[in-house]
Amino acid sequence: MSQITKMGISYRFQEGKVLVNHNKFLGYTKDDQGQLVIVPEEAEVVRRIYREFLNGKSPYKIAADLQRDGIITGSGGSRWYDSTVIGILKNEKYQGDALLQKTYTVDFLSKKRVNNNGHAAQYYVEESHPAIISKEEFAAAQAEFQRRSNMRGYSRTGKSAYTSEYAFSGKLYCQKCGSKFRRSAWGTGKNKKYVWICINHQINGNSACDQKSVKEKDLEKAFVRAMNWVINRKEIYLEELSRDIYHGLEPIAEEYTMEELYARLENLQEKMKGLVKRSIKAGNVDENGHSVLGAEIEKVQNRMKKLKEQITERSMRQKRVEEFREFLVLQEGGIDRFDDVLFRRFVDSVEVQSMVEVAFLFKVGVEVREVLG
Ligand SMILES: [Zn+2]
Repeated sequence: MSQITKMGISYRFQEGKVLVNHNKFLGYTKDDQGQLVIVPEEAEVVRRIYREFLNGKSPYKIAADLQRDGIITGSGGSRWYDSTVIGILKNEKYQGDALLQKTYTVDFLSKKRVNNNGHAAQYYVEESHPAIISKEEFAAAQAEFQRRSNMRGYSRTGKSAYTSEYAFSGKLYCQKCGSKFRRSAWGTGKNKKYVWICINHQINGNSACDQKSVKEKDLEKAFVRAMNWVINRKEIYLEELSRDIYHGLEPIAEEYTMEELYARLENLQEKMKGLVKRSIKAGNVDENGHSVLGAEIEKVQNRMKKLKEQITERSMRQKRVEEFREFLVLQEGGIDRFDDVLFRRFVDSVEVQSMVEVAFLFKVGVEVREVLG
């Protein structure tokens, strides 16, 4: 394959002349110019999927509920699979971006396409069409996938052990050994109760970790008290949150702004175009020139990627703090029973210190210690 052919294709993608996906996908249709436009009622389904996923529902359950409600899929069918839901949750097009050149043509004659596994540069075009999902929500969904996949190591069957069925799933950590906790039923009939057990202790016994199990009801009651502790001191917490909004986040280290990096990238890509043109004219490829410029382009793209991640992290953080502040401002008086939704929304993790002591770490960075029982 000639380098020139590869470059030529890259430029066409860069200019956005080639659209990535020719299949119809939920939320968008194409106008007569081939541009993506939003279909409002389908976009509503996409938003519902993101919302439910971020509230802890599994893709399997989301699919089952969509099917139950008679919602039509992007391809016009009535059957929903968890893979369809996952595809929608991972599709960067919903935030208005397009990752162009997922495949590239190897040979003009055979038109054989291969997947782009880093052989050719990928061009990430931001805001190429109207977004259905905000960048914060999209980033939050990707982080949620990460969080859930981190839990997989604890399943004996090798299948995902994650279930979003329980509010505490994947959120309890053992302070003694760092392991996660698993739900277990004790007793039968009327005496049946649920406890959470350190997985390391359960599998490897006392010599590995001597953490005792904790009762689910006690955890729920402790959360109610932790939440009320914060609500009753809302003035203090509101002030603290506005003072230190980026608590726990790394400062942005990049010396250039996104715009400056974009400008630099464009400049380098122009140079590359010139080089390609000259190569075609001369009939031979300036290998050295290509690799020097190529490396420089990659460097700038990496910096842009890192900066973009930091900016997204900050805006997610801002969003979480705003959400929490809004809750505190509107909440009159304490809560009187365990609220599953509230817990999922605001709590990042719970550290189990002993059978009688836990610490709730809220997503906004606030930590509240509670005694169990
Ligand atoms: Zn443990």
